[in-house]
Amino acid sequence: MNKLYKANLIFIFLLIIIFTTVAGAEGEVNLYTNRHYDTDELLLQEFEEDTGIMVNVLKGGSDELIEKIAREGKDTSADLLITADAGRLHRAKTMGLLQPVKSKVLFNNIPKNLRDEENYWFGLTIRGRVVVYAKNRVNEADLSSYEDLIDEKWNGKILVRSSSNIYNQSLLASFIELYGRDWAVNWAEGIVKNMARKPQGNDRDQATAVVAGQGDIAIMNTYYLGKMLNSTNQEEVKVAKQLEIFFPKKTHINVSGIGLTRHAKNKENAVRLIEYLTSKKAQEMFAKANFEYPVNNEVKPSELLKSWGEFKTQDINLSSLGENNKEAYMIFNQVGWK
Ligand code: FE
Repeated sequence: MNKLYKANLIFIFLLIIIFTTVAGAEGEVNLYTNRHYDTDELLLQEFEEDTGIMVNVLKGGSDELIEKIAREGKDTSADLLITADAGRLHRAKTMGLLQPVKSKVLFNNIPKNLRDEENYWFGLTIRGRVVVYAKNRVNEADLSSYEDLIDEKWNGKILVRSSSNIYNQSLLASFIELYGRDWAVNWAEGIVKNMARKPQGNDRDQATAVVAGQGDIAIMNTYYLGKMLNSTNQEEVKVAKQLEIFFPKKTHINVSGIGLTRHAKNKENAVRLIEYLTSKKAQEMFAKANFEYPVNNEVKPSELLKSWGEFKTQDINLSSLGENNKEAYMIFNQVGWK
């Protein structure tokens, strides 16, 4: 009797273990993300409701998250890594932290130039790094290319954040790729000469400084202007209304993207989440609520994005943003772009 009772207990215990393991494997996905936008939270919530798969999110800086995945090795709890820039995903790939994904849905949703050549990472949204200018002080006809920004007519007029920021690193990396190192050095040097003040603050702060009259133009990402225009903070709305976007010739674009970790435990769920985030429904949300450009060609940009106009982009492989990152970093140091 006692023996039978024990055996039963062990059996039930085993059943519980098997059940929780299976349920766990089917019921969740772990995401490390560098993105800090409300839109993402809404999308993940919808994914949970639609699929029943729980999404556990860990937020952090890209470098921090990449280091964490490397440190955790085979035991990593991360199934997916999202960063706000393709350069970082490329780094994660070269460090052996990601694995390729074969998915017709993804190949269909995302054009080739917006994903890794070997499918180790996939773009989720496109962001342009552009010129934003004071409507009342700058004549649009005076703007043309990134190169024009180093002309002396802009002396003391340019506002841009620190070179420690990945958006600037990737911008310079794209120039190294397109025009070579010397060109990039010359450009960075010219911008430093034309800066209205020492680099400080984030992209939104550059916009605010333009309106405050500290400079005439800011180098910043498009979606921040969208966010300011739609902000609950009336001051931000006021600032944004006095500004206009200009897309330089061959506008620099980057993607916020996602990769499946090499040691993902919830691979199937993870792929489902990537597919979901590149679906029409999710892509519309990114465009409408976060003012980023969709990667999925079937999705049209939102009204606001349309109002900003169309633009031609740099024609480079986005992996080069990662490949040239170190060089960009060294150039910034060399020319004293803090
Ligand atoms: Fe951002």
